[in-house]
Amino acid sequence: MEKIEIIKPDDWHVHFRDNKILEAVVPETTRHFARSIVMPNLIPPIISGKDAVRYKKRIEKAIPKGKNFIPFMTVYLTENTDKNELKESYKNGLVFAVKLYPAGATTNSDSGVKDLRKVMPTLETMAELGIPLLIHGEVTDKEIDIFDREKVFIEQKLDFICKKIPDLKITLEHITTKDATLYVNEGNNNLVASITPHHLALNRNAILVGGIKPHNYCLPILKREPHRIALLDTAVSGNPKFFLGTDTAPHMTEDKESACGCAGVFNATYCLSILAQLFDNKNSLHNLEKFVSRNGANHYNLKTNDEKISLVKLNQELSFKKYLEVGEKKIKIFKPDFPVYWMVSN
Ligand SMILES: [Zn+2]
Repeated sequence: MEKIEIIKPDDWHVHFRDNKILEAVVPETTRHFARSIVMPNLIPPIISGKDAVRYKKRIEKAIPKGKNFIPFMTVYLTENTDKNELKESYKNGLVFAVKLYPAGATTNSDSGVKDLRKVMPTLETMAELGIPLLIHGEVTDKEIDIFDREKVFIEQKLDFICKKIPDLKITLEHITTKDATLYVNEGNNNLVASITPHHLALNRNAILVGGIKPHNYCLPILKREPHRIALLDTAVSGNPKFFLGTDTAPHMTEDKESACGCAGVFNATYCLSILAQLFDNKNSLHNLEKFVSRNGANHYNLKTNDEKISLVKLNQELSFKKYLEVGEKKIKIFKPDFPVYWMVSN
């Protein structure tokens, strides 16, 4: 049986939500990952160090006993973010990074930024202190087609920020286009990007062909096949500017299978199996560790984890559990449309 051992991975973009969902999904992430950056888009959003600490405690309560796991907390950037408060929270270790959502870009992002110029002083302070900025890179203008929103964001907003504040550490999160891979690759060393397993596995046909597939609906939305190929080629290359951020985003099935279904794919459970398969298919398993365990840690100036994990290649397809139960309700677990043979063995 084929087997590989890698440094224990980190997930640099997770949604744990809150309450019952939080209790159900945290163990799915802590099973294979050592650290995660936790998104702040609760209702109401996490906007201060105090909010972040309270949320962190709720997360820590849900970590199974005996598991070593560190949640890194973020605050939600608004046009009213107090940069002095942010400075204190960062210095005290309450906040690890700041998240920029353009207003209305995705689930619970109504408090996001409408006018970039209003947050530039905060971004300048962040650059001075070395606080990373995490960006949901889509414009939200009604007249821009949903499939073009990332590309337009890069041209109109990201380029502006990068040129004005080249010292700011920026992660363009969950990239979905060839344009993003090129822009980030050409940018300076402070600019990096995260990629999700579902954007590596699927193109937009997975939402729209043969009947609407609400469980593959996510934001930024899946793109055409040439974009998926560009993302996959970038991920498997081991390029140090690109790393895993799963954007695992649980919603109850009833909220996905709806006339106005929520955006988000819950992929924590089989994420590493799926990635190992994708890398194996491209004869690039030797670069998996860079993508899931090394590149992100390096960008965030953290040591890689001491623990290791092993994956084995089974002789038959791995059978996926379909749902994660949450009381009476359930969350659909992401399964791609190709066979997966890899399994985490410890
Ligand atoms: Zn997200």
